[in-house]
Amino acid sequence: MNEINGRTRILGLIGEPVEHTESPAIHNLLASKLGDNVVYVPFEVKPKRLEEAVEGAYALGIEGLNVTIPHKVKVMQYVTELDDAALEIGAVNTLASVRGGYKGYNTDFSGFMRALDKFDMQVNGRDVIVLGAGGAAKAVMYALGKLGARQIYILNRDTEKAELIFGNVPNARIMNINEWDQIPEGRYICIQCTSVGLSPNDDDCVISDDRFYALIESAMDLIYKPKETAFMKKVKAAGGRAYNGMWMLVFQAVSSYEFFTKKEVPEEIVEALYAELDS
Ligand code: NAP
Repeated sequence: MNEINGRTRILGLIGEPVEHTESPAIHNLLASKLGDNVVYVPFEVKPKRLEEAVEGAYALGIEGLNVTIPHKVKVMQYVTELDDAALEIGAVNTLASVRGGYKGYNTDFSGFMRALDKFDMQVNGRDVIVLGAGGAAKAVMYALGKLGARQIYILNRDTEKAELIFGNVPNARIMNINEWDQIPEGRYICIQCTSVGLSPNDDDCVISDDRFYALIESAMDLIYKPKETAFMKKVKAAGGRAYNGMWMLVFQAVSSYEFFTKKEVPEEIVEALYAELDS
């Protein structure tokens, strides 16, 4: 970590809980690779004190904050400006200081788009299967829309919830996770957005039937722990390409850092950051 002195700038994360977050490690590593006099600290904030926390952070001159569960939606009330994508997605995970307060962004979506690009997964005109309809799926769906996906099959355990969130997306069809066999034959891009298979439940997979995986040409599992999920193993066994969520994690952090510091992170630093986090 850099030496802390009178010119050190503060970044941080607000959420509850924050003990297990990877963000301080990623951002402090990034700051040290860039030689920035910056320190990134986690702050546990109770929901009822969110407004005070945002105002107080601004008063203290904190340049930027990441926002995590359970504040990603409510924090939108306390920003001075809101990025269009964050407004459409309906969630903010990044606050960057502007005159009079913070501007809210969503970098899960930009991190996801940058990861797709890294994996050379071309979405434009393609049919896509999205597994899950939680917070991450919202950012994924927004990105898929922007990138021009053709038909999107959203498979979720709770279809009522999925209908509420995505019912008005014209090219999306919502199905129960057990109805995967109604998807027309083809070779799809698949984005795994459920929390099934997350460590320590490494052997779990949201769809266990091997026949499903014949539909998948390339896939991203948003989970990055374990490095190779049971879902990824099944995709590969059926002849498809599969990637984990580590690049998305790195890119969402890099995008946040770029909003915080208002400067671009060079590609070689992003590569070095990934290499260190993945080792
Ligand atoms: P969330 O809002 O809690 O949503 C969880 C999703 O998983 C829901 O669709 C839920 O279905 C589904 N699910 C949970 N348990 C299930 C089960 N037993 N069977 C079937 N479906 C189940 O979580 P989130 O924020 O969207 O995050 C989802 C995953 O993405 C997490 O593992 C998270 O770590 C990862 N993520 C990664 C990144 C990254 O940068 N790589 C970023 C964000 C999130 P129901 O709606 O039916 O409950």
